[in-house]
Amino acid sequence: MANLTFDEVTKKFRDGNSEIVAVEELSMEINDGEFLVIVGPSGCGKTTSLRMVAGLETITEGDLRIEGRSIKGRSPQERNAAMVFQSYALYPHMSVRENMSFGLKQSTDLSSDEIRKRVDEIGDVLDIPELLDRKPDDLSGGQQQRVALGRAIVRDPDVFLMDEPLSNLDAKLRADMRTELQRLQEELGVTTIYVTHDQTEAMTMSDRIAIMNNGKLQQIGTPMECYYEPNNIFVGGFIGEPSMNFINCSRDAQTLSTDDFDYEISESTAMELESATNIVLGIRPEDVVVVPEPTEPNDIAVEVDVVEPFGKENNLYLIPRDRESNEAVIGTVNGRTRVESGDTVGMRFPEEHIHLFDGN
Ligand code: ADP
Ligand code: MG
Repeated sequence: MANLTFDEVTKKFRDGNSEIVAVEELSMEINDGEFLVIVGPSGCGKTTSLRMVAGLETITEGDLRIEGRSIKGRSPQERNAAMVFQSYALYPHMSVRENMSFGLKQSTDLSSDEIRKRVDEIGDVLDIPELLDRKPDDLSGGQQQRVALGRAIVRDPDVFLMDEPLSNLDAKLRADMRTELQRLQEELGVTTIYVTHDQTEAMTMSDRIAIMNNGKLQQIGTPMECYYEPNNIFVGGFIGEPSMNFINCSRDAQTLSTDDFDYEISESTAMELESATNIVLGIRPEDVVVVPEPTEPNDIAVEVDVVEPFGKENNLYLIPRDRESNEAVIGTVNGRTRVESGDTVGMRFPEEHIHLFDGN
């Protein structure tokens, strides 16, 4: 068990004559026993961050520490970090038991009896005791994934590193494995970094989420913090489905003006904005209130352009009627709400649910 510190870690790759900054000054602390998920779009530096912890990639600048001690000079074998890959990377000619024992034989001086005992234990934890004598080819995708995990767990690592381990599984199995992995991690209490581009995995599995974009950490926090208090437009837009609505506004004192409507903010909110004049107003679809007609000063008259039904809820694409722009705002309403394309209704943004970002 261990905590892990990224201290202004930068990784640059040479690509011909140009330089790629894959990870830029990444600083974060992962607590002992924590399940941290790194999430972000493809190419944002997730895999590179993991590989630096595993020792598979050198660090260009900065430092990585386990329990306060730098691991920069240590070989992958000396780091006691276990990596689980997207492709399970099992040895096809070995049985499950042999696959799970292999690393232990290489890296410890346990006797073969002790190794057998340990593999049996982990087989029980993973609920695969009956599979230990099979070959990987005879296993389903989910079973192979469990074996890959087992192989990592038997080594009793300080840190678990998982790179999109569920992305090869079908949707149903993926959802099952999500819960199972989470349960397992909690049971074992091993500090874990789990990488995914899937925000649902990030939200449901993690103690905390680290959101990356373009090699830079955008925010680190609990799923609720990242969802309800996004640091910036990227985080607000990345976490949440359908995405947060963003509306460009120019601001004069307490008035936010768009091509479509004006919105008056309170004095205290205006104070927080200081002197900013270009503002992006963000509001999540479920926070948009749809009323039969505008009645309050900030209500906006809109036409329902499209109704997207999901059963328990409908996404309404709402277009303001009074001005020239045709930008739709998505509002989510209960699935039983009687509303059709072409209806005119009122749209309300409760001030306590809006997010105001600097638009510069
Ligand atoms: P992610 O896992 O988030 O999709 P990666 O960490 O794999 O992103 O990649 C981050 C960036 O670094 C990308 O621009 C990628 O092309 C680049 N990169 C990764 N590995 C190498 C490498 N070995 N050589 C050159 N560029 C690389
Ligand atoms: Mg990757």
